[in-house]
Amino acid sequence: MAKTALITGASQGIGACIAKTLAADGFNIAIDCYSEREVENGGEAVAAACRELGVEAECFVADVSNFEACGELVKAVKARFGSIDALVNNAGITKDGLMVRMSEAQFDAVINVNLKGTFNMLRHVGAVMMRQRGGRIVNISSVAGVYGNAGQINYSASKAGVIGMTKTVAKELGSRGVTCNAVAPGFVRTPMTDVLEEDYKAEILKQISLGRLGEPEDIANAVAFLVSDKASYITGQVLVVSGGMVM
Ligand code: NAP
Repeated sequence: MAKTALITGASQGIGACIAKTLAADGFNIAIDCYSEREVENGGEAVAAACRELGVEAECFVADVSNFEACGELVKAVKARFGSIDALVNNAGITKDGLMVRMSEAQFDAVINVNLKGTFNMLRHVGAVMMRQRGGRIVNISSVAGVYGNAGQINYSASKAGVIGMTKTVAKELGSRGVTCNAVAPGFVRTPMTDVLEEDYKAEILKQISLGRLGEPEDIANAVAFLVSDKASYITGQVLVVSGGMVM
């Protein structure tokens, strides 16, 4: 029976690319979108691209910061596909600003989606994977969570927290055959980074050993490895995918 992968925030950017990459590897794909608008504006096209690769794919709607909505999402995906073999916690937002100017609302918004949203999904899918006695979880962190980043105290805290949760889940669920790892991207060209100033991107580029910005495929390929059988003895790790921007 084909395995099923559930990917959050998969209507665009890195998440959409992960969905298509895992579809190419034979996973049925459950695409979580933030709202019905995201289903129409991207999610349904991603699902169609996955189906063209010969697998089943469907969009679901859940705001990952809503605990109950995540529970309903997991129930619906399980009912539709029978199992959840891989979970990719990809949904994330930024609300940048220097620490001394950051509002409480900016801080809370990023923590609610990136950190609590990851917990919400882990909590519900973890229970399913424990019963299945197997599964693969990949949490999308960031180099900002490993090394910090000026202007991103909220984001770097959320992404560092994701690493803490990754290692905890690896310890708690390892005996049930569930692996949990984090991928920490460097600078990747997506709608999230398209809005940044060209000067800033040029400065970043100077720091990248491989001499180019990352593409969504660079991250999706790392995720595809970590959810594959080839990674069955790897858990609790943080794989930095940054073209050598940080080492
Ligand atoms: P993106 O293009 O902005 O995609 C993020 C996706 O998450 C969007 O589809 C977004 O939907 C969705 N999302 C946001 N809030 C959500 C919520 N509450 N519930 C469900 N979905 C939600 O960003 P990306 O660059 O592909 O980033 C993907 C992941 O990689 C994020 O976790 C990000 O932090 C991480 N990352 C990115 C980079 C980079 O350089 N791009 C570097 C390091 C880490 P909407 O469109 O409705 O907002």
